[in-house]
Amino acid sequence: MILRRIASALKRQDWATVLIEFVLVILGVLIALQVNNWNEERQARSEERRILERLHEELISVQATRSRITDAEHENLRRLYTARKVLFEKIDRQTLTSAECTSLGNSDWPFVQRISVPIIEELLATGRLNLITNDDILTAISALLERQSITDSLLDDLRPLRHELSTEFPALITYAIVPIDDPLDEDGFDVVYTCDVAGMKEDSAFLNAVGENITTFVDSFGSGYLRSRQVFADLHDAVDASLNVTHEDEQ
Ligand SMILES: [Zn+2]
Repeated sequence: MILRRIASALKRQDWATVLIEFVLVILGVLIALQVNNWNEERQARSEERRILERLHEELISVQATRSRITDAEHENLRRLYTARKVLFEKIDRQTLTSAECTSLGNSDWPFVQRISVPIIEELLATGRLNLITNDDILTAISALLERQSITDSLLDDLRPLRHELSTEFPALITYAIVPIDDPLDEDGFDVVYTCDVAGMKEDSAFLNAVGENITTFVDSFGSGYLRSRQVFADLHDAVDASLNVTHEDEQ
């Protein structure tokens, strides 16, 4: 309709009307573009909010898993230290408890592993990390990714140094599976090791291997695992601040 009005004004050589109609057309286009921009911006912000909310949920769940593993590994480490004292005759005890012996048997494989946050992997894989605009969160995500790659290479470096004691010293430490009464256990059986403590104390190759496993355990647990705890906490703080979330018991 406006075009017809411009055409008719042109025919009449009514330049003032042509100019006004022309300006109105341009204004209309500009306003439509701006409204479109606002809509896109609003959609991006609400998408960002959804991403941050999911990130927050995943951080809470990852941190809960990590803290369970950390507690279990602290306990494992404590038993290994005691076992080492017994084997090196630093305390007056001749036997290892079943749990201490099992910690020794598992000492080649600390439960340290890369822990990732699914939504971060997903945003990276789909190239959508730029939907997050908060600088503090982006900085914390980079720190987390850097920490993960340090942990990965640390674990790769340490893996060949570990000794699988029951394979290297089958006469001293024996692997067995026993039925357990835990309804949550996957197969109803648990791994236990039996230790020949007197024989272990006589075998310097075994004692060296135990020493190396404990050192490797401490390195991978401490450097790889405990250090990344701060990086997770920083990311969580940044997400909390962005979503205005507070926690009653601060981690
Ligand atoms: Zn939170």
